Amino acid sequence: MPLDSQPAVNIPQAPDVVIVGAGSAGIAAARRLLAEGLTVAVLEARDRIGGRAVTRIFKGHPVDLGAHWLHAGPINPLVKLGFARGEPLRRAPTEGHFYVRGRPGSRAQSAALVRAFARADRAMTQAARNDEDRPAAKALPPGMGPQGRRVRDIHGLVSGRPLDEVSLHDFPSMEYADNLFIAGGLGSYVARLGRSLPVRLRTVVHAIDWSGPGVRVESSAGTVQAKAAIVTTPMAVLQAGAIRFAPALPEPVRQAIHGFRPGVYEHVILHWPGAPFQGPDRLATLAGTRRSPPGLLTRIDNTPFHFFELDLPHAAQFDRRDAHAPARFAREVLAEHFGARAIRNLSVMHATAWRNDPWSRASWAVVPPGLASIRDALKAPVAERIWFAGESLSRAQWGTAGGAWEEGERAAAQLCAALLVARRSLIEEQSAPLHD
Ligand SMILES: Cc1cc2nc3c(=O)[nH]c(=O)nc-3n(C[C@H](O)[C@H](O)[C@H](O)COP(=O)(O)OP(=O)(O)OC[C@H]3O[C@@H](n4cnc5c(N)ncnc54)[C@H](O)[C@@H]3O)c2cc1C
Repeated sequence: MPLDSQPAVNIPQAPDVVIVGAGSAGIAAARRLLAEGLTVAVLEARDRIGGRAVTRIFKGHPVDLGAHWLHAGPINPLVKLGFARGEPLRRAPTEGHFYVRGRPGSRAQSAALVRAFARADRAMTQAARNDEDRPAAKALPPGMGPQGRRVRDIHGLVSGRPLDEVSLHDFPSMEYADNLFIAGGLGSYVARLGRSLPVRLRTVVHAIDWSGPGVRVESSAGTVQAKAAIVTTPMAVLQAGAIRFAPALPEPVRQAIHGFRPGVYEHVILHWPGAPFQGPDRLATLAGTRRSPPGLLTRIDNTPFHFFELDLPHAAQFDRRDAHAPARFAREVLAEHFGARAIRNLSVMHATAWRNDPWSRASWAVVPPGLASIRDALKAPVAERIWFAGESLSRAQWGTAGGAWEEGERAAAQLCAALLVARRSLIEEQSAPLHD
């Protein structure tokens, strides 16, 4: 049975709330609304739930094609929920590998890289406290040499865009600390959380009419009338005009949607039993040759699987080439470091292309410098009927499944409160004495 298969569940014809999208945000919102006693229909374009969190089996091992890390453990709702459910969580190691031309670097070289990250983190966290927003790259301390370039590249990779295109205000220092992993993959965990929810798969929403009372949601499976909607489709999908709103969304909301930039981060999934790295789940930095992997996560869950990560500049350059170009690139770069013999038993199992997937169009959404306020503009509901949610709206956990979950819960809680207020004023109206 696929890890993200759904049992057949009754979908209400006239629910209180329609949720568009069954990724982390949509699943969190649905669970919250159902717990409050509301009826819900989740409409999902794909033939599976989970969105950008999905796990597939390769050679018998579960491997994530999208989200894999549970970042920022102390504030990540998926970690708290995971511990409460007894899920198989494990702490991510803090130590990594540092190789120079295919050989382990000296202790001093590794320590210099760790110091460079710490120095950059301090400088960016300090600068982010300042009210004025500017490109994150501008806050990096000067004179850091090759280590500085590495720090800049890694932060650019995990941000989804080069650091001069990312808001400094998105860099409070905790985000990538205290990370965890989950056995069986983060995608399967998210799918477990969504199992048995009222989700209609293969249902593309193309219009939301909010001209009358409530909302009319038009989809490839017909029209659903509800009191309100929560829209969790990725920002890049909204930007592409996949959903038409009638009447058009208020101008500040439209501007906020179009303020985000697509973040790009892709996995090239390697099966490499002979890889030189020891110990599970460690990041590796490779230095000393012409080219290096933008990111490398080794021996995932102590298996022969590794992620060779692509940042935006690398991934974008493969868009103009054939489908095997990312795999060739990964092999060439690793051969440059470790020699052709070392990669003899390396196979590339898959290279993701979320940036070209019509239901994501990006790995996550990035706030450019100076536009930090667009998240708040989208958190306010439109006419108390349409709420937006998803990773892009999370201030402290943007670009993550945990952030998407947090935002799904936030939107659902606000929606419940609004429906309660509406119900109370209706009761008051009906019980008020009649005057002639
Ligand atoms: C390669 C990669 C690696 C990542 N690594 C990590 C990581 O390690 N840790 C981490 O926390 N996060 C990571 N992320 C980010 C994380 O996957 C996302 O932030 C998170 O899953 C987004 O959840 P969401 O609910 O906001 O959006 P989504 O998961 O994208 O859900 C939105 C849903 O809406 C559906 N949809 C779209 N359009 C329509 C429509 N018109 N009608 C109906 N349905 C529609 C989509 O099919 C989708 O299911 C990674 C992402 C990628 C791509």
